[in-house]
Amino acid sequence: MAEQENQEIGHKELAHKTLLQSDALYQYILETSVFPREHECMKELRQMSEKHPWGLMATPPDEGQLINMLVKLINAKKTMEIGVYTGYSLLSTALALPHDGKIFAIDINREYYELGLPMIEKAGVAHKIDFKEGCALPLLDELLLDENNKGAFDFVFVDADKDNYLNYHKRVIELVRVGGLIGYDNTLWSGAVARPPDAPMLDYVKQFRSYVIEVNKYLAHDSRIEICQIPVGDGITLCRRII
Ligand code: SAM
Ligand code: CA
Repeated sequence: MAEQENQEIGHKELAHKTLLQSDALYQYILETSVFPREHECMKELRQMSEKHPWGLMATPPDEGQLINMLVKLINAKKTMEIGVYTGYSLLSTALALPHDGKIFAIDINREYYELGLPMIEKAGVAHKIDFKEGCALPLLDELLLDENNKGAFDFVFVDADKDNYLNYHKRVIELVRVGGLIGYDNTLWSGAVARPPDAPMLDYVKQFRSYVIEVNKYLAHDSRIEICQIPVGDGITLCRRII
């Protein structure tokens, strides 16, 4: 009986998009609070991404809504995104910024970005985006060569290669202003962070699990930031720079 109940409330198709107790509850959130308010161009971009072979990488819509609100709450004007893919989180950030706001957006793959670009243009926010194709680490090092970039960013969303999160943190912490916010995405890693290393899991989950655990430990003890780990999507750790 207990097993049957578990199956009924357990995850099926949507398991990769949420850590909530059931798909029905997640669907409820989407249908009640997220979809009715989703910008038409965000919806178009999301639906296009869902059909793309790597669609699982896209930020889920409830998390997009959270990012949009955070950017507004801190009155961000200058932001950065590391890991753009087709641009769902990028567009949610761009829509939240004022008309003269700017996003420095990095991805090793311009083709993904260009798939979402027509919707970003249609939303009238493409002028806020400075897209850089390339490996994020050297681009961050280049930014750090200019003292003017230090403490210049209000918000940074990190959503690229998980094995580099600690390397990103070492650099991003200097680029974000005191009082500014960094969001590290996927820090609950499909729940694998709380499973034993030999538990059955998909290869890519297994491959990066230890890096995510390491970054979580590091962030929890970094005295330069206050943190809050939110179980939205695959987990986002918000870090507010305090010194
Ligand atoms: N934030 C995106 C969204 O809302 O759809 C999802 C980003 S996806 C999970 C990760 C992206 O990081 C991919 O588009 C990939 O090309 C990019 N990426 C992976 N390694 C990278 C690196 N070393 N430097 C820059 N981008 C990288
Ligand atoms: Ca992500």
